[in-house]
Amino acid sequence: MPKPIPVVLKSIPAHAAVWHEVFLREAPDMVLRDWDAETGFSGITYFAGWMPPADLAVRMPDLALVFSVGAGIDHLPLADIPAHVAIVRMIAPDVTRSMTEYVLFGVLALHRDIVPYVLETREGVWNPRPIRPARSRTIGIMGLGVLGRAAAKALVALGFRVRGWSQSAKDMPGVETFAGRATLDTFLAETDILVCLLPLTGETRHILDDRLFRTLPRGAAVLNVGRGGHLVEPDLLRALDDGHISAAILDVLSEEPPPADCPLLGHPRVLITPHSASASQPEEAARQMITIVRQHGSGAPIDHLVDRGKGF
Ligand code: NDP
Repeated sequence: MPKPIPVVLKSIPAHAAVWHEVFLREAPDMVLRDWDAETGFSGITYFAGWMPPADLAVRMPDLALVFSVGAGIDHLPLADIPAHVAIVRMIAPDVTRSMTEYVLFGVLALHRDIVPYVLETREGVWNPRPIRPARSRTIGIMGLGVLGRAAAKALVALGFRVRGWSQSAKDMPGVETFAGRATLDTFLAETDILVCLLPLTGETRHILDDRLFRTLPRGAAVLNVGRGGHLVEPDLLRALDDGHISAAILDVLSEEPPPADCPLLGHPRVLITPHSASASQPEEAARQMITIVRQHGSGAPIDHLVDRGKGF
């Protein structure tokens, strides 16, 4: 019988316990080794974890593939991972489902004026606004990747007008698509509710800035569910305070948790959630790792491989 394929895991004990159960049950041809229980892993090619340690390449001289248990890779110390090592990010059905739920919640809350209603009713103000049909509202999604496409599809099903912006051209039923910087202003000009589902890269950092807000129609609303680094927070505050942006829902902030004096906290037209739109579940992560090892071992294309050049 061939020796089981070793996979090194760095995780918190509660998640590691789930990984071990899944591997025992579903991958008898593989064996999990715990990063914290041993010092050297020579001969082992696979590593899984949220944050690869700085001495990864030293302790794993034969490393070939890193599985990052997260959808974004902006937290990864790419310089510490040798260039020949493949990096795969976490994308699983539940990660996508939770994000779709959150985007639907956020868009519906903004569409139905829930942010001002929460504050007004607490203060005893009874101020119903006209109800607009979904078909009269345009939702613009920045980022038509795995998560952006799933959210767009769900919004189309609710009857919204949906447009999406990405780097390369896309064709999606019911979605008006725009590609590249040259189309950004046209995409924004008719967007009533802007959803940011971009990865954080050198090109997208601080993309949600004053210029972008002023290109949206007056009264537009913003939902940032990408990364805190996409948003220039003082620019949003200014646009909220002068009424150009009507409301914002933010799942991510530049500093998490934010300092107690962060002006977005408690702002009457901002609703904040603590980076909880979606998260990877250990069972799904373990299953994805098993699939990755099988794909890598058989020479098949590997799903959700990170393009280091593009940064996502
Ligand atoms: P993907 O890599 O599948 O998709 C990224 C999309 O962004 C692609 O459509 C890509 O264009 C587009 N894009 C990237 N750079 C640019 C650019 N410079 N200009 C225009 N479009 C660009 O990512 P996912 O959909 O899986 O995830 C998106 C992000 O969501 C993650 O990177 C993460 O930051 C965030 N996230 C947040 C979570 C939360 O809880 N708040 C949870 C999970 C993820 P193209 O298709 O042409 O390549």
